[in-house]
This record gives sequence, C-alpha cells and structure tokens, in this order.
Amino acid sequence: MYTNIDKLIEDTWMGKPHVVILGAGASIAAFPDGDRNGYKLPMMSNLVETVALDHELNEYGITYEGRNFEEVYSELIRTRKNMRVIEAINGKIWDYFSRLRLPDYPTIYDHLVLSLRNKDLIATFNWDPFLYQACWRHNKKVKLPMVVYLHGNVSIGYCLTDMKKGLIGRRCSVCSKQYSPSKLLYPIKKKDYSLDSFIQGEWKALRMYLEDAYMLTIFGYSAPQSDVEAIELMKGAWGDKYQRDIEQIEIIDIKDEEELRDTWKDFIHTHHYSVTNDFYKSSIALFPRRTCEAEWNYSMPEKPEFYPQNPIPGNLGFEELWKWYGPLLQAENKKTQT
Ligand SMILES: [Zn+2]
Repeated sequence: MYTNIDKLIEDTWMGKPHVVILGAGASIAAFPDGDRNGYKLPMMSNLVETVALDHELNEYGITYEGRNFEEVYSELIRTRKNMRVIEAINGKIWDYFSRLRLPDYPTIYDHLVLSLRNKDLIATFNWDPFLYQACWRHNKKVKLPMVVYLHGNVSIGYCLTDMKKGLIGRRCSVCSKQYSPSKLLYPIKKKDYSLDSFIQGEWKALRMYLEDAYMLTIFGYSAPQSDVEAIELMKGAWGDKYQRDIEQIEIIDIKDEEELRDTWKDFIHTHHYSVTNDFYKSSIALFPRRTCEAEWNYSMPEKPEFYPQNPIPGNLGFEELWKWYGPLLQAENKKTQT
C-alpha cells in the first residue's frame, strides 16, 4: 500500500536551499558532558578556565575574573601589550579545540548532516572539529550539504588558487600543494571578515545561499552584540524582512522566546518563524531531507495536503541509521537521473 510516508519520501521537488547557521550553543547541546574523552566545550564565559589560560593572563597581569573572554581578548589586541602572550593564547586555544573528538555513536551533528541535502548549506561559527568529523564519517554514504566555516576551523585547510578546502595536512586535489591551515577568527569586538581571503570566501558562499534560501535555521547562535558585522552581512543577504514573506525562520535555542524574538527581530517576519529548545523538535529532525517540501506544504493557506512527520529514529547505530535514510536517498537519486 502506498502510504503518506511513501509520498513524503518521493517528494523531492524543492531546489531552494535550507540554510543552517550553527553557533556555540549547537556544540554545547550536542555534548553537554563533553566530547568523546570528556573535554568540555569552552564558551566565551568560561574559556579562560576551560582552556587553562590563567597562567598566561596572570603572568602579564591581565585581569580576567568575571569577564567575558571576548572582552579580555579585545583588550589584549587593542593594547598590543605583548604579542608573545597573544600567540601563546592563540596556540593554546588551537590545541584545545584540535583535541576534541566526536563520540563513536551518532550525535546531533551526525543527525544534522544526514538530514540536509546537497542543495543545503551549513554555516558554522564554531572552531571545533565536530561538524567536519561528522561529515567525514558519512561522506561515502550520503550526498552531504555544503559547509562553510565563518570563523575558520581547527580541522580545515584550504587552497585559494583552486578554491578547495579539506582536512588540515591533506593536499589539494588539483595542485597537490598542502592545504594552508585556516586562521581562527579570534573574538575581538570589531571583526573584519574581509581581512582573510579564505574566510571572505566562506562568507560569500553564505550570502549567495541566503539570497536564494527557502528556510533558515539558527541553531545555538546567540548573535553577540560584538558580532555586528556578522548580523549586518546576514541581514543584507536575507533582504528586507517585509519583502520576503514565504520563507520560514526557525530558531533552536535554550533561551526564552522573548529574548530570542528580540535578538532576531530584523529577520523575523510577523509569523513566519518558530522557536524550539530541542534539535529533535526542529524541522530538520522531524522532516529529515524534506525540510523545505514539508514547510511548503504546511504554509499553504488552504487545505494543506496531509504531510506526515518522519522523525529521525532515536537510538540507532550507524549501520541502521544509514539504512533508515536509504529510501530518502534513493528517491533523490532517481530525481537527479530523470
Ligand atoms: Zn590547489
């Protein structure tokens, strides 16, 4: 019997992208108890303690207690007191984030990359290597979404000449030169995204995808006041909020709704947005690989065709998970062949 789920599986017509923006909150939600080896995810509020930068800061008499790391670091850069301490701090942060590893079972990151399509884009502000590691372990099984790293990343290197990027230490598939490590964009109040050519390219890709996006999900990105430039860039690409009333914005965050509405007011058209505090209640987890089709169906003013939820089943291992995504992938492949 042909069921509604079969219909959903075959429903692959939407070409417009779903753009997903990840902030630190996504990694915290994925690993509340730390990574595979118990390393905690640092946040700006506890980075000094987590990465153990107190020694460096004490040595140079920089006060950090009760201060956000962004503030401390901005002061360091502004006063340029000591380049050696800045380099030491940068090195320690790099080392800490490079050590992080995904657990050996499926995580939010795995479910996220499996549930978006090739036409979609994930743009992450995070330095941690989880998104790359998740893409890597599903790379041969599914067509993955495009990924851009807006603040650089500890696992990503690039070749500017050939516009390629990949794992640090690997070689460019075109010119065989070793990839240059991407620079981490450190937290200073005024970030200049145009200073680094690699990061500039990543932002350009995000802008292009946003201009055409049907859905935007913002997952755990708090849009800090200091990221004015990031917000402006995103706003510019998304266009005037009154001009665009078809698209849906979805916010996954543990903050309360009023605060979130205030943070994102420039993006949110009167009612085309939703908020959830749980990734598994988001469109990505309820309609994996069919997010935009589902949204389109639910947004129809009259008598929407019944569109069933098809949630990612919990507690599946990798093999079972790939098997579960199989029919969705087959339907997509059939479409590209015809
Ligand atoms: Zn190259």
